[in-house]
Amino acid sequence: MANFVGFDDAQTAILRADLEAARQVAADAARIPLDTATLLWEAFGIDGVDPDRNQVDRVRSVYEGFAAGMARATLVFYPGMGNASAAEFDSFPDRTRPNTILVRSSYFLKAPCDRALTLLHHYVHLRFPQNLGSGHPGRDAPALARGPLRVAFDDASRNPYCYEYFARFLRLVEPLCYRQ
Ligand SMILES: [Zn+2]
Repeated sequence: MANFVGFDDAQTAILRADLEAARQVAADAARIPLDTATLLWEAFGIDGVDPDRNQVDRVRSVYEGFAAGMARATLVFYPGMGNASAAEFDSFPDRTRPNTILVRSSYFLKAPCDRALTLLHHYVHLRFPQNLGSGHPGRDAPALARGPLRVAFDDASRNPYCYEYFARFLRLVEPLCYRQ
């Protein structure tokens, strides 16, 4: 399990639960169910009619690496609420330290399913620290509705938003939203 720095006991307990929820989502996504051809196309630009096995395996290996990757991660409390109009105001990877995610108190105001998806998103950031710019090659904003992301596979396979989209619309997160 990840390291936690600067959180109170309640926040640490929530983060532990969120990490476990995200681990389950990642494990489910790694199975890449056979009926997900359309979603693979939308999220990653993988040909839905004749999926490229190597591409599918690359996506699967990223999801499969969640538990090990987050075991090396350190989550650090970051003061302030952040600007809600910014894309990643409640939490974001620390550009100055490897395997480090900064988390504001506003993170804890989000719904449980959104927190789990956020941790999955940041895990992908930690896995691809060499991504340029904001760390979202080919797409720099979340997709809040269904539809092709139109990101070429090489970018999509390293883009946290693409993994977040696939998991969200596999509806793996729905039980998290109703379990509370
Ligand atoms: Zn991001």
